[in-house]
Amino acid sequence: TRRMAWQREKMAAIGTLAAGIVHEIGNPLAGITGLVQSVLDEPGAVTDAGARERLELALQEAARIERIGRDVSEFAVPQHERRELLDLNELIGRTVRLLRHDERLRRIEIGLELDQGLPAVEGVADQLMQVVMNLVLNAADAVLDERARPGGGIRLRTRREGATAVLEVEDEGVGMEPSVAAQATEAFFTTKGAGQGTGLGLALCTSIVGAHRGELAIRSRPGEGTTVTVRLPLAAAGEAREA
Ligand code: ADP
Ligand code: MG
Repeated sequence: TRRMAWQREKMAAIGTLAAGIVHEIGNPLAGITGLVQSVLDEPGAVTDAGARERLELALQEAARIERIGRDVSEFAVPQHERRELLDLNELIGRTVRLLRHDERLRRIEIGLELDQGLPAVEGVADQLMQVVMNLVLNAADAVLDERARPGGGIRLRTRREGATAVLEVEDEGVGMEPSVAAQATEAFFTTKGAGQGTGLGLALCTSIVGAHRGELAIRSRPGEGTTVTVRLPLAAAGEAREA
């Protein structure tokens, strides 16, 4: 629709602008982090526990700037030259292995139900990995939320529906009220506390999936969990043969 196309253009414009700013901020930010870290590392330089704690907080805030920058600059225009034929299952496997290093995910079981016969999709691997990563991290946050039932898991599913590849990320986390679900994909919308969320994850996912001519849908029940469904067109038969 026109509204979606406009939204996509807006996000791409933000991305291009942000990528430039983030690039310029990168060096001084690394400078700040390095300097503060060197003071903390120097034996005897900071002996006061309170002062040490404040410097560590400063480092965390610097890391947050970096994180926001990374999230925002991902909105940059999709690069068509990086498109390739992708095995979605393989991409999911790679992403899950990467996420195994994330502290939050060590405590959560991730189940995989991947349709091994799924044909290739055409897309940008980095960007689609970013989508899977964001969805799984959101699922992890929801499962670890103190209001969620303990012991909830995450499940990733793929299947083919006609000419479409379907990916579902399902969690048994805290779920969303309808009003939250309705706003969840808007840029900068977050219910997570200061320093926790940027509110860019789902906006980024929606933008990337849209650029791949796909769709992202959210189904959620408060207290029960959430399923995010991503639909991507399969690569045309002629292209798939080259995969
Ligand atoms: P962030 O994770 O930085 O808050 P997102 O765009 O990824 O930003 O998500 C926006 C909001 O949508 C979250 O703050 C949360 O309220 C809600 N949300 C997203 N995914 C889930 C999920 N799997 N379960 C429950 N709530 C979710
Ligand atoms: Mg998120």
